[in-house]
Amino acid sequence: MSKTLEEVKVLPKLEAIITEQGPSFDVIIIGGGPAGMAAAIYSGRSRLKTLLIEKALVGGQASTTFEVENYPGFPEALSGMDLAQRFEIQARKNGAHIFYGDVTSVEDKGQKKIIEVEGRKLDCRALILALGSEPKKLKVKGEAEFRGRGVSYCATCDGPFYKDKNISVVGGGNAAIEEALFLTRFARKISVIHRRGQLRADKILAERAVNDPKIFILWDSTVDEIQGKTRVEKIVVRNLKTKKKSKINSDGIFIYIGNHPNSELVKGLVNTDEHGFIITDDHMATNVPGVFAAGDIRHKDLRQIITAAADGALAANSALKYIEE
Ligand code: NAP
Repeated sequence: MSKTLEEVKVLPKLEAIITEQGPSFDVIIIGGGPAGMAAAIYSGRSRLKTLLIEKALVGGQASTTFEVENYPGFPEALSGMDLAQRFEIQARKNGAHIFYGDVTSVEDKGQKKIIEVEGRKLDCRALILALGSEPKKLKVKGEAEFRGRGVSYCATCDGPFYKDKNISVVGGGNAAIEEALFLTRFARKISVIHRRGQLRADKILAERAVNDPKIFILWDSTVDEIQGKTRVEKIVVRNLKTKKKSKINSDGIFIYIGNHPNSELVKGLVNTDEHGFIITDDHMATNVPGVFAAGDIRHKDLRQIITAAADGALAANSALKYIEE
């Protein structure tokens, strides 16, 4: 039986968790996005002693999505943050402990995996890596300088600051187009700067963007520089076909050009592809026995909340089998 919400005990301090549970767990999950939370729900329900550690924000990248329209069961659409909070409540209800802290090392000692968090060593029999990914940078002049002063990677967080302003969005994938559409609630005009002549985003989103009177797509174009005095004022755009450069007035620029895997922590421990995404088999097992990976950090085709959650469930199931064997 899962617990009622009132019965869910929250132990926010690591010391409290260790005092009550000891430093050894069956399963430790690193990362509290949809993959990690789903793994925690399944692992908790298997009555495995489970600890999930998240360093920043529950829900990972999903929590920065204003409206999630394609997660089954929620036809009315709900915010990424709402969904993330529901995941967390469900994980706790099913018996998983959740702690907010930064894991600084991971070691494979055969039967035991040792992790270090806040200077304390914890161990587990199975480790699930659900570290997710972070936004890729354009690496152009002005990007780092104006970060937080017009350069943003989160429309949900910063969009409301751009009421009646001209802004730009870079990228042509689902994230760029979904967020450009979200930004139409605030901005006067949105220039989507995309390096090709066709959007990568799902057709339904692409059609909405092309037909939106506030969205103007600059095809075959790339950003050369972000300019301003104290904050973003202009974007230098280059047309890749004509090679012509132009400056567009822009009070802000939202960059959505894909994600990098957060796999630095386990570099050298598990096999990754050339971009750092962790390679697993169909059961979410890495090359290291007892170490599993789930969600956006994996080398895979479709990075969605639903596929991350499915990965998490599979990883927890594989962890259970590994421990029982
Ligand atoms: P993505 O699908 O990899 O798209 C990245 C976009 O940025 C592409 O259009 C790409 O151009 C462009 N790009 C990449 N590097 C660039 C550079 N250096 N300069 C300029 N443009 C560059 O990434 P994403 O949109 O962040 O999405 C990540 C994953 O999450 C995807 O699997 C996506 O489907 C998923 N997601 C899904 C939803 C949803 O279903 N509602 C919402 C958000 C994200 P090219 O097209 O030319 O490669």
